[in-house]
Amino acid sequence: MARYDFNAQRLYVDCDLAEGARAPLSKEQSNYLLNVLRLRDGDLLLAFNGRDGEWRARLASVSRKEAALTIDSLERPQTQPCDLHYVFAPLKHARLDYMVQKAIEMGAAKLIPALTHRTQNSRVNVERMRANAIEAAEQCGVLTIPEVDEPKKLEKLLAEWPSDRLLVFCDEDAPPGDPVARLRAFAGDRQTDRPTPPLAVLVGPEGGFDAGERAMLAALPFVVPVSLGPRILRADTAAVAALALVQAALGDWR
Ligand code: SAH
Repeated sequence: MARYDFNAQRLYVDCDLAEGARAPLSKEQSNYLLNVLRLRDGDLLLAFNGRDGEWRARLASVSRKEAALTIDSLERPQTQPCDLHYVFAPLKHARLDYMVQKAIEMGAAKLIPALTHRTQNSRVNVERMRANAIEAAEQCGVLTIPEVDEPKKLEKLLAEWPSDRLLVFCDEDAPPGDPVARLRAFAGDRQTDRPTPPLAVLVGPEGGFDAGERAMLAALPFVVPVSLGPRILRADTAAVAALALVQAALGDWR
């Protein structure tokens, strides 16, 4: 991937992007650019909307409190996200904010909150998660806008699970073993015509999975339980470790 201008401020805008277009900015975005970053008319930014690629854009202030972008030229064409979903037991506030941002940086295209028996936070602010996901996408150069689902009980999620999507089950009780080899063997056994099968990663709550959940998961043909090593990781640590493992073994780090 050609390295792009990391210094330019990247901004998600929810409008069509084409040469000469004008992208209106929200009050919050205008305030951030004009008064926090103190950008001036004509300053360069990068704008993306999740479907038209990333465009070089110039700041055009309308007033002290309102700004817009004039769209210049295409910087990077739209790419498809890697087909990776992150399924997780919602954590409490700050740790959940952190986990959402890291999942996006690690390439998750969809976040699926799963309510397990020991989940401590079942009241999830989905709008807050969506805002964190967009902020992470702006900061880490992601061109697509991650989807964030409404929370669902784990049992219901698994009952509706598409059988072609591999679910990597991070099991704190799994016997130690080479997780890369395990993932590649499991994916290799499922002859798919695509170089990378549709993937998902499941990480439990601070209290882990209970025996019933573990048995339910182990019985499913699309589930591959993996160990993340000999130490017990906090759930937000496990998120980054598991997504790194999957991206390295089967995903877009290859
Ligand atoms: N119940 C455990 C902690 C669970 S950690 C305890 O308190 O001792 C939260 C989640 O992170 C687990 O459900 C699992 O999905 C993941 N995780 C943590 N350490 C792991 C490991 N060594 N191997 C696999 N998954 C792990």
